[in-house]
Amino acid sequence: MSEEGSSDVRVRVAAALRGVAAALLELVYPPRCAACGGAVVAEPFCSVCGEAVDPVPEGCRRCGLPGPDPLCGACRADPPAFDAVRAGGLFGGPLADAIHALKYGGRPALARPLGAWLARAAPLPPGALVVSVPLARARRIARGYDQAALLADALARAAGARGRRLPGALRRTRETPPQVGRTRAERSRNVAGAFHAARPGALAGRDVVLVDDVVTTGATADAAARALKDAGARSVVVLALARAE
Ligand SMILES: [Zn+2]
Ligand SMILES: [Zn+2]
Repeated sequence: MSEEGSSDVRVRVAAALRGVAAALLELVYPPRCAACGGAVVAEPFCSVCGEAVDPVPEGCRRCGLPGPDPLCGACRADPPAFDAVRAGGLFGGPLADAIHALKYGGRPALARPLGAWLARAAPLPPGALVVSVPLARARRIARGYDQAALLADALARAAGARGRRLPGALRRTRETPPQVGRTRAERSRNVAGAFHAARPGALAGRDVVLVDDVVTTGATADAAARALKDAGARSVVVLALARAE
């Protein structure tokens, strides 16, 4: 057998073994609700938690901020670089618990059912590339994974768009302190110019879906979307598990 042939066999054997390992894990650890840990029929949520996820109310057509304004004051005064925000639900309750478990609970495996859930809640625009907001390096090292990248992988897989997943399309140009606890203006300053497109050739003229776990003021998504637009992306739709108010 040629060297290439034997390495091909090794890859297939490894994939088959991973499949067996996953099936055994399912037996030992049956699927659990991402929020309450209860038994589930279909991931990510049990029926009680699934019903308690609030849909995102009507709001700003640009940033998704819930409210009566079709275009909120902030977007009128200073339009963000992204074109729209879509989210699986409003931040809070079981959805917040699931996101917390994914980000801080050391449970990267939750990205798969949550990404598939998001793909059902907010279908991908046809032909769109799937890009994620890169986590700051220090946080990625501390956590051991980048939850937005895992979500983007799972979303693309569930949507039958693995070929349009563009890993590493965005990079951080500098490290930024966490956004939590900052005002909108502080958040914007904190992340301005913090991203650049690492694969500009692949982005030119394309529609892009930018995946993140939560959108709050949209400052991070705005800075990331600006880098994508600077690289020639035609449109950027932010896709998040949750929209915070
Ligand atoms: Zn539950
Ligand atoms: Zn807005």
